[in-house]
Amino acid sequence: MTEANTQPEVNIGLVGHVDHGKTTLVQALSGSWTDQHSEEMKRGISIRLGYADATFRRCPGVDEPECYTTDEECADGSTSEVLRTVSFVDAPGHETLMATMLSGASIMDGAVLVVSATEDVPQAQTEEHLMALDLIGINNIVIAQNKVDLVDRDRAVDNYEQIQEFVDGTVAEDAPIVPVSAGQEVNLDLLIQAIEEEIPTPDRDPDESARMYAARSFDINRPGATASELKGGVVGGSLVDGQLEVGDGLEIRPGRQVEEEGQTEWRPLETSVRSLQAGSQQVDIARPGGLLGVGTGLDPSLTKGDALAGQVAGEPGTLPPTRHEFEMQVDLLDRVVGKEDDESGESDIEEITTGEPLMLTVGTATTVGAVTSARDGECEVRLKRPVCAEAGAQIAINRRVGARWRLIGVGTLS
Ligand code: GDP
Ligand code: MG
Repeated sequence: MTEANTQPEVNIGLVGHVDHGKTTLVQALSGSWTDQHSEEMKRGISIRLGYADATFRRCPGVDEPECYTTDEECADGSTSEVLRTVSFVDAPGHETLMATMLSGASIMDGAVLVVSATEDVPQAQTEEHLMALDLIGINNIVIAQNKVDLVDRDRAVDNYEQIQEFVDGTVAEDAPIVPVSAGQEVNLDLLIQAIEEEIPTPDRDPDESARMYAARSFDINRPGATASELKGGVVGGSLVDGQLEVGDGLEIRPGRQVEEEGQTEWRPLETSVRSLQAGSQQVDIARPGGLLGVGTGLDPSLTKGDALAGQVAGEPGTLPPTRHEFEMQVDLLDRVVGKEDDESGESDIEEITTGEPLMLTVGTATTVGAVTSARDGECEVRLKRPVCAEAGAQIAINRRVGARWRLIGVGTLS
């Protein structure tokens, strides 16, 4: 096994309604639990983007789909061949955390939509997440019909047909539907085969300048570490272009907020790459694709608690501008999706109006903005927190409907 093919090369989002088995499926495929954080454990939901890597393998001389596995050893005792390593982004199913799910979507190359066979289709977030994939343009999708161990054959078939009917006419229309049990580890070979066929590793250009979207950031030091033991801040995210090498310079934007003489401004951070963690290993060079941890020379207080989540990192001098306000072209949905029956609020989506607050997701950044001017299919917003973004960037637009933020459309930065 070479180092090259165990670096994750593609990001696959797990989406679907809460409790349908996303986290269990990631665990079954990767052997690791994405709900690592105690708070997440307590609440039983993945409140941040959890991520875990899985290496897909094939047993030589065995027929499809039985040849697909994540085990190193095959049934006959031989060693399996590595196909590729994927990073799973386990999006939260909790309805109020749609924004986090969407921010994950900006770094997803494809998605597995998990649908439980034990409930009618669609449940609220099944619909909402599929709509988000549609809006963001993620069309490499595999549907996992999960928990088939809990239903009899007739219910499984009925449910399968409900799924088919539900995805008809959507971005997932041609997606394979694979009946699985994440809990009992049934049909995972078929699921791996479907992912291999439907979610290819995108072509990326390693010669471009490095561009990384930060989804998380941490302070990895234990409380009480002495100054000499202190390790620099860590940024976690996805390298979408170029490559990063230990020793490379790194700029992070918008950076940090500084206050001087009553004025606040955002200043880019400059540091260097001290270490790289791709998959479960330390590497000297990280190629674009999967999720990545970058050890930096930054003061860990700047990275702790996801302080840099949503920012953009890359080769100094090559990053897009920091924007405190921008104009976007707007495409609204026809109606609010994923609403529970007992929720109040309009189902039709009204035009955006001047003065209203919107929650916007740009890259991995989520920020609130006030609309300063709205015209037909276009609006200008002033942001509470600036974002680093290029013209042409896609923006998920959320409006407060009833008690929470709802996805109402997508924008393109002018
Ligand atoms: P998530 O909210 O979509 O991440 O769902 P979880 O992975 O946390 O699963 C919710 C519950 O369903 C947990 O109690 C799991 O043990 C259970 N579960 C998940 N997959 C299966 C399955 O295939 N079969 C059975 N019987 N239970 C499952
Ligand atoms: Mg979960």
